[in-house]
Amino acid sequence: MRRLGQCQRLLVVVLASAAAMVSTCAPAQDRSSERTAMIETIKGHARSAPSAVEGRGVDPAVLTTMGKVPRHLFVPEEQRGAAYRDRPLPIGYGQTISQPFIVALMTDLINVGPGDSVLEIGTGSGYQAAVLSPLAAKVYSIEIIPQLGERAAARLAELRYNNVEVKVDDGYYGWPARAPFDGIVVTAAASHIPPPLVEQLARGGRMVVPVGGPFATQFLMLVEKRRDGSITTRQLLPVSFVPLRGGGTP
Ligand code: SAH
Repeated sequence: MRRLGQCQRLLVVVLASAAAMVSTCAPAQDRSSERTAMIETIKGHARSAPSAVEGRGVDPAVLTTMGKVPRHLFVPEEQRGAAYRDRPLPIGYGQTISQPFIVALMTDLINVGPGDSVLEIGTGSGYQAAVLSPLAAKVYSIEIIPQLGERAAARLAELRYNNVEVKVDDGYYGWPARAPFDGIVVTAAASHIPPPLVEQLARGGRMVVPVGGPFATQFLMLVEKRRDGSITTRQLLPVSFVPLRGGGTP
């Protein structure tokens, strides 16, 4: 009896440690608590930059989506530990995935609605496209570096972001066959606002684009095409992006 009692105690200990392993391993893999902390940081930034978010904070739908997208699966393995930190990270080929706040801000600024068609220039890791995917009807994304574009397309398909289409091309010229777009997000800094993208913006549509040289101050610009076709531009805040290459290069 006594021996059995010891066995039972042992079993309890084994089960308890197995339960502890499950409860520590599962969230470690899912990393949802890190995403929750990331969302709080984004909200804090939005409070300290009220004019950038038009005085109303980041749209809760954008934050909910960012709370679900597994950012750690979009960065190289050696960067995974830092995936939810509030900073840009290298993704190879000299390119970077933007800081979470900037992703939230850019997504928020184009006011994506469920029926919208959105164009992204600079697919990079595919993370920004994944964040746009549940918010829009269709996401088109263009990447100039073939290896990055192909890798991002495979990752997005694997994670079932099925409404995202990626092509390898020079995004300066947009995607005329799929235009017009209700929203356009340019995730590399252009020396000027690319006229083909303004052309491909739908009436009532919005584009966010960082403008400025690689060694000069860049500003995030908001371009709006009104219902009557007139264009307004607004300079929002200083930012730091990798340069837009290809046709946009002076
Ligand atoms: N949005 C990305 C990060 C982009 S980094 C993400 O979520 O991970 C900027 C990307 O723009 C780089 O991958 C770079 O190769 C790409 N790029 C630069 N110039 C481009 C151009 N003319 N057309 C398309 N992509 C371009």
